[in-house]
Amino acid sequence: MIPMLQAALLVRAANESSAGAPAPTAPCRADGSEPVAPAAHLVARPRGVVHVAVSPLTPSGRFIPVTARTVCRTHTRRLAVVPRSRAVDVFRYRRVCVRCIKALLPTAPGVDGTPLPRDVEAQLYSFLTIPNLHAVLRSCTTVDQTHMVGRLALMLFGPKTMRPPARRSQGQAAVADLHDAIHKTRARLVAETRTPEERAALRQQRDTQVFNDALTARQRKRAAAVDKALERARRGGFLTPYERQLVDSA
Ligand SMILES: [Zn+2]
Repeated sequence: MIPMLQAALLVRAANESSAGAPAPTAPCRADGSEPVAPAAHLVARPRGVVHVAVSPLTPSGRFIPVTARTVCRTHTRRLAVVPRSRAVDVFRYRRVCVRCIKALLPTAPGVDGTPLPRDVEAQLYSFLTIPNLHAVLRSCTTVDQTHMVGRLALMLFGPKTMRPPARRSQGQAAVADLHDAIHKTRARLVAETRTPEERAALRQQRDTQVFNDALTARQRKRAAAVDKALERARRGGFLTPYERQLVDSA
């Protein structure tokens, strides 16, 4: 399959060019024979789920061939191409196939190695909803994928609100839930992907930290006691044997 981001860009290009009747032109070889990669399109049954298909179109330019498959390999009857003019409505009111969305997830950096401008990327994925991202998150199997979803969530819906749960609006609560779910999934995947050696190293590191913290606390307490004893000695006050010992050692 063509790279994911490239597919997303092709969908955009295809939608932009399929506003009118003419079929989107697929990139061709120099000699003009076979297309290198057919363009990707948003396709759907009437009022059905929206999929992504990477396929040439029928001569009318309005459908993909019956034999063509969507990115998610769903078997379905003839799928119509969603014109650019209706794409926004389609994404707002219709279900978008999650497996096809996954194929559109950004792979940083961009197609030719340069990162995409933020606004271009935001525009590219503006059709994603919070339930869409939850669905993508549920199918994440690597930590990197959770970072992708997290980046999308931040870009499209902003950071988690600082307001306490009781004072959040419905929208803020939904975004906060999404961020929480992303962190939870990531923490689970991070723990799952650790090797026994890494786990042992982590335990060792934690033990050392606990020891060092205790040592620092003891030293601080002793320094404070010495200061107090010195101050009392300066004033000519009574010193306990322990305090005398502290003053002598200072
Ligand atoms: Zn699909």
